Amino acid sequence: SREFKEDNTRFQVGPNCEFGGKAIPIIAGPCAVEGREVLEEIADALHELGIPLLRGGAFKPRTSPYSFQGLGEMALKFMSDVRERTGMPVVTEIMDPRDLLLVYKYADVLQIGTRNMQNFRLLTEVGQLDKPVILKRGMSATIKEFLMSAEYIMSRGNGKVILCERGIRTFETETRNTLDLSAVPLLKQLTHLPVIVDPSHALGRVDLIPAMTLAAVAAGADGLMIEVHVRPHEALSDGAQSLTPEGMANLIERLRPVAKAV
Ligand code: PEP
Ligand code: MN
Repeated sequence: SREFKEDNTRFQVGPNCEFGGKAIPIIAGPCAVEGREVLEEIADALHELGIPLLRGGAFKPRTSPYSFQGLGEMALKFMSDVRERTGMPVVTEIMDPRDLLLVYKYADVLQIGTRNMQNFRLLTEVGQLDKPVILKRGMSATIKEFLMSAEYIMSRGNGKVILCERGIRTFETETRNTLDLSAVPLLKQLTHLPVIVDPSHALGRVDLIPAMTLAAVAAGADGLMIEVHVRPHEALSDGAQSLTPEGMANLIERLRPVAKAV
């Protein structure tokens, strides 16, 4: 909490990216790693745009067991090969403590997804690592519950926690979730941790992403996580919410004046 530590927590990820500082790093990439070539296409396009961090799921927490579950270790290998190719550090989700060493070996930043925000065993395990962790807010979690989950990680020694607002469940069905932007200034008031926003999973539809991304930055977000695919209509998951690299380029242009103003 702020009472414990007044200054913002700041740390580097790779050579070109700092969380908790002045810059607003964007983490972008596909929902899932679908294959080597398509990942390279996406990563090259994002690298060209100056995106500092690549995301991509290897283990996908899908609602249906019959949906694409991710390529597992093969996807992790593709991600780390792409890091060699572009120099972009990589972010990927860990779903199970049994995969800890495997994911640790390949990833630069570990992500705990919304469905695992209160998987206390998993939180305790990543709390013993020396790599940053993106903790996504549970889709029905209160701010207090969210912060206590972050405590599970930090109390084990890992202070490099990034909080991610990714939308909460409400009665509304026009959007996939409801982006709780009030969480951003509230979390920043209560904690010293960097707070990022994932508008992709909050909205579930590409048309609303630019407006809500601008709003997230205006609200004080320390970073963004946005899904991007070179051919969203062919994506094996979350195509409807994935920007194209062109869409991402336009968004970056629109973000510049807002980022400067905050
Ligand atoms: C993801 O970022 O790939 C993901 C599954 O997000 P969430 O856990 O927020 O649903
Ligand atoms: Mn996704």
